[in-house]
Amino acid sequence: MATLSDVLADRTRDGDLYDRLDAKWVHCYACGHNCKIPPGALGVCKVRFNDDGRLMVPWGYAGGVQCDPIEKKPFFHVHPGALAYSFGMLGCDLHCGYCQNWVTSQALRDPQAVAPPLDVKPEALVRDALRQRAKIIVSTYNEPLITSEWAVAIFKEARDAGLMTGFVSNGNATPRVLEYLRPWIDVYKVDLKSFDDRHYRELGGRLQPILDTIRRLHDLDVWLELVTLLIPGFNDSDDELKRLTDFVAGVSVEIPWHVTAFPGDYKMTEPSNTTPAALRRAAAIGKAAGLHYIYAGNIPGAVGELEHTHCPHCREVLIERYGYLIRRYNLTPSGGCPACGTQIPGRWSAEFSEQRTAFPFRPGLRLMERY
Ligand code: SF4
Repeated sequence: MATLSDVLADRTRDGDLYDRLDAKWVHCYACGHNCKIPPGALGVCKVRFNDDGRLMVPWGYAGGVQCDPIEKKPFFHVHPGALAYSFGMLGCDLHCGYCQNWVTSQALRDPQAVAPPLDVKPEALVRDALRQRAKIIVSTYNEPLITSEWAVAIFKEARDAGLMTGFVSNGNATPRVLEYLRPWIDVYKVDLKSFDDRHYRELGGRLQPILDTIRRLHDLDVWLELVTLLIPGFNDSDDELKRLTDFVAGVSVEIPWHVTAFPGDYKMTEPSNTTPAALRRAAAIGKAAGLHYIYAGNIPGAVGELEHTHCPHCREVLIERYGYLIRRYNLTPSGGCPACGTQIPGRWSAEFSEQRTAFPFRPGLRLMERY
């Protein structure tokens, strides 16, 4: 019987993001691992491999498709209330023990993570996104950088159809992959998991490429929001949070920072769940660093004002939320504060008409074939 690796190896094509080296080795630069791969071997992500001097990359399938509220990605400054048509492939370049998407991200490493691919064409995904009345199409669920060629194929179709495009990513990028993505991507969420390189190495990565990605995305004018999942005993010390938020403020105080509660997941069920008080403490550290937009997530109703968007100048409440639900929308058509006129950074609609999250969404699976 074919293994999942065999099944996925049939769903590949020659990649764009690599250099050919001597003796048929290849150098992949789709992520910060920068793998140099001999013939017949896999990259660290286990989904890109060297076939006789060509780097084969994932193509033609989805590991999951779902319609989510854009607030769930989370993007709080991008068309509030919009529907984000979300797709992923399989595999990841990191192996975080607390991954919430481990069924898709760790499908190649963990035999318990069973996630068969759905064969699909970019046009079918985009057609379905339009049918669902999505505003944006997002590559998520696995690490999208390692499947960038496929995401760009979908994003080209999406742009032609008038959709926005985005990545929900760990940020372990390279300058060259960001250059490749830039013409086709509008918004990007980076998980800033820690500010300690030793912690990143436990997860299978390094801190520096993530910091470089954040700076570069900001310079490229890709709309950027950051998330830190606050894990008790792992990344929640005052000192680490101070260094982390000082860094973000040094790039721009206008980058929204979401600090979210750890619920216990996958292999990391040991630490106790993050409390609302811990989220408030982290938010206070971010505020002292000068950040204008700090959001506490994953515990709706327990963190008060930290779910809402305020004007940084006059403190007017601009968007009031409960979890993903928008309770009140108070921005001007140009995305300004109605009380003092301060322009709020983001990608805003001229008006807030409805929140698409109020409907039960199902992707149009009839457009695809399950393997
Ligand atoms: S995507 Fe990253 S982990 Fe995978 S082969 Fe390329 S450089 Fe290596």
